[in-house]
Amino acid sequence: MHQDDCVFCKIVKGELPCARVFETDDVLAFLDIAPVAPGHVLVIPKAHHRNLFDLPEAVGGRLFAALSPVGAAVMAATGAAGLNVQINNNAAAGQVVFHAHAHLIPRHEGDGLRLWSGRPYADAAAAQAMAEAVRAAVARGR
Ligand code: 5GP
Ligand code: ZN
Repeated sequence: MHQDDCVFCKIVKGELPCARVFETDDVLAFLDIAPVAPGHVLVIPKAHHRNLFDLPEAVGGRLFAALSPVGAAVMAATGAAGLNVQINNNAAAGQVVFHAHAHLIPRHEGDGLRLWSGRPYADAAAAQAMAEAVRAAVARGR
């Protein structure tokens, strides 16, 4: 269930401190040690799973169920007008801690945090080809 070299497992086991804000039998939420904005919270399953792709559906469901109440509490406590929920999966997506977690990032109008800027597909055919590629992968199961 826990992995010896995992920083979040150590937090779950109480071997490392954290500023806990919410806890159930399966889920723990605590302040990110290096917040993008004050009140930035991490919500994790207590059991060790690498990321989204390794989360059993029931565990993911319990993690997701915590996002709304904890996210609302983060907004209330920080006076935020919005909230970003982010899950980084694999190093290429910025995952640094390989124990699944969701970031709750409180947002304020004009806070200057930038997410990403979109660019349209070259044309309708390119979008259609991409949708077809994803549909086929979904049908294959990956
Ligand atoms: P990732 O990039 O893997 O999605 O995010 C990992 C997050 O965990 C980072 O935002 C980082 O600040 C946070 N973090 C890393 N180590 C610790 C720690 O020991 N305690 C806490 N509270 N947060 C941590
Ligand atoms: Zn872990």
